[in-house]
Amino acid sequence: MLAEVPTLAIDLVEILVNTSVLADEFLSHRLGLVPLESEDIDQLKYTRDCTCEDHCEKCSVTLELRAHCDSDETMNVYSSHLTIVSPNTGLNLGTPVVRDPERKGVLLCKLKKHQQLHVRCVAKKGIAKEHAKWSPCAAIGFEYDPWNKLKHTDYWFEESVEEEWPKSANCEWEEPPVPGERFDYNAKPNRFYVNLETTGPLKPNEVFSKGCIELQKKIANIVFELDKLDQQQLQAQANGATAYAGQTVYGGANGTTYGDVVGGGQTSYDFGTGRW
Ligand SMILES: [Zn+2]
Repeated sequence: MLAEVPTLAIDLVEILVNTSVLADEFLSHRLGLVPLESEDIDQLKYTRDCTCEDHCEKCSVTLELRAHCDSDETMNVYSSHLTIVSPNTGLNLGTPVVRDPERKGVLLCKLKKHQQLHVRCVAKKGIAKEHAKWSPCAAIGFEYDPWNKLKHTDYWFEESVEEEWPKSANCEWEEPPVPGERFDYNAKPNRFYVNLETTGPLKPNEVFSKGCIELQKKIANIVFELDKLDQQQLQAQANGATAYAGQTVYGGANGTTYGDVVGGGQTSYDFGTGRW
């Protein structure tokens, strides 16, 4: 969830005018960290997988920011000033996430009189393993066994565990331990509490389900690779029985290992005839 759920974030910034006090690099970094709506991110391609030259509407969203201060008061430039300029694809992608009551978003920079800013930003799909700006989460808390019935945690205390250690908020979901109850050595944790705080591009439940999908994909890949190994071994077994006939490669010292591994203890291998 922290590192591999894809979102959209500004990846390229073209600075056309910047007479603010912030350096171009500083501003680009701030723009990269702006949370952008990523609900339909599955419909967007990674730029590296796209057939276009540089970037296109299938793999990116282009935003623009124009600000010019012409009053004596300092002007604040917020992420809500970013506007999407790439063709509308009908997808919910790229709108800056605004959560504050005044609907302003993140403060990007401040402008004094006559200072101005004009930037063009290309937002791309990515994951936080590459850069933290793509992380959909701010923080994730994880807990099981809030009453510490399994004694996986040692509480350090001076007089009383109950008084010195605050109860977890998740305690109310589980039955408190009965005083004097026997310790259950076979008990295993079966309920897990995940506290998830997003940065706004995706809803917390979406981040959780997408995180589960990423995990499933990883496990599927492991199973697939193990299957492939099995297939290769079976192939080697077939080749060994015909081409090598137990005389060259697998004969002699290697013969026993070969018989154990491939035969699986079920069949025997006759080194004289080279047959199973
Ligand atoms: Zn493209």
